[in-house]
Amino acid sequence: MTYKAVALISGGLDSLLAAKLIQEQGIHVEGINFFTGFCVEGHSHAIRKKDNEEVKRNNALWVAEQLGIKLHIVDVVEEHKDVVINPKHGYGANLNPCLDCKIFMVQKAHEWIEDNDFDFIITGEVMGQRPMSQRKSTMPVISDESGAKDLLLRPLCAHNLPETKPELQGWVDREKLHGITGRSRKPQMALADQFGFEDYTQPAGGGCFLTDPNYSVKFQDLWNNRGDKRYEPDDNMLLKVGRHIRPDNSFKLIIANEEGENHFMSGYKKQFQTIQTVSHSDPLTIIDGAKLNQQQIELACAINARYSKGRDEASVELVFSNPDQTFHSVHVKPMSVEDMPAKWQLA
Ligand code: SF4
Repeated sequence: MTYKAVALISGGLDSLLAAKLIQEQGIHVEGINFFTGFCVEGHSHAIRKKDNEEVKRNNALWVAEQLGIKLHIVDVVEEHKDVVINPKHGYGANLNPCLDCKIFMVQKAHEWIEDNDFDFIITGEVMGQRPMSQRKSTMPVISDESGAKDLLLRPLCAHNLPETKPELQGWVDREKLHGITGRSRKPQMALADQFGFEDYTQPAGGGCFLTDPNYSVKFQDLWNNRGDKRYEPDDNMLLKVGRHIRPDNSFKLIIANEEGENHFMSGYKKQFQTIQTVSHSDPLTIIDGAKLNQQQIELACAINARYSKGRDEASVELVFSNPDQTFHSVHVKPMSVEDMPAKWQLA
C-alpha cells in the first residue's frame, strides 16, 4: 500500500526538504500552498521596476517542480482575516499572528486530507527556529488545536518530538528523519547539498509582510484611523507600495517610490483622489481617506512636490484628480524637509 501525505509548501527551503525526506521513503506526496495575501513574493517585487532584472518566480511552484509533485494553491484570504484580526495567541514582534496562523494552516490541511483521503500532513517546521510558532512548547499546541494531533509529522525535527502515527505505524522510518533544532541554517543547507538542491530561497521573516516592521506600522495606522480592525484586499495591496504619509487623521498620502509603483497605482485612479506632478517627472500620489478641502489639497500637493524632481523649485505644477476623472491644476511651493513633521511619515 502506498501512503499519501500532503506537505505544506511555503516556497522556502525547509518545506522543500521536509517533503523530499518523506518522498524518499516511498510516500506519495502532494503539496498545499495557502494564499493569505501577505506573501512578499509576487507583490512588491513584481511591481517595482528597479527589481526588473531579478528573476521573478513563484517559489511554491518552483518547489513543486523540484520535487515533481502536484501543488494545490488554496485561497484563504477571507478565512485568514479572523486569524490576523483576532489572534487567540497574540502577535509576534510585529503584526504577525504566527502561532494562530500555523494552527489555522494545519487545520485547513487536516480538513484537506480528510476530504481527499490522504493519510498525514508534513510541515517544514524546525524546533527553535522561530520565536513564536516553532518553539518546543508551541509545537504541541499546533498539533492539538489544529485537530491534526498525531497526523502532523515534522520530518526535519521529528527526533525531538513524540512519535507520530506515521512513525508508530511504520508508514515512515523514524530513523531516516532528523532532529534539527535552532536558528542555524547550516543543517538545512547541508541537506540541500545532499539532495542536489540549488537556487532555493530562504526569505527573511518567512517571506510574509506581517513580519515586516514597516508594513506593520502602516497596517496598525490603518486600523487606528478606521476605528476598527478590518481590511480589504485593496488595503493589503496598497500597504505594500509607496511612501505612506499621514498629515491628518482624516487622510493619508501614498506616494509612489518609483516608476513601477507609479504604473501600478495608476490602476486606482477611479477609486481614489490622486495627485500627479506634471511640471517635473514623478510621482503619483493616492489620497486614502475623506474628500479633501482646498487647504488639504494644497498641503497634499506640497508634500507630493517634495518627492518630485522639482523639490528645489519655487513652484511645481500638479494635477489633482477625483475618482470621476474631473481634475484641476494646482501650483505649489514644495514642502521643505524642515516643515514636515517626522510623525507624519509612517514608512
Ligand atoms: S510568517 Fe506570516 S504566513 Fe508565516 S506563520 Fe507567521 S503570519 Fe503566518
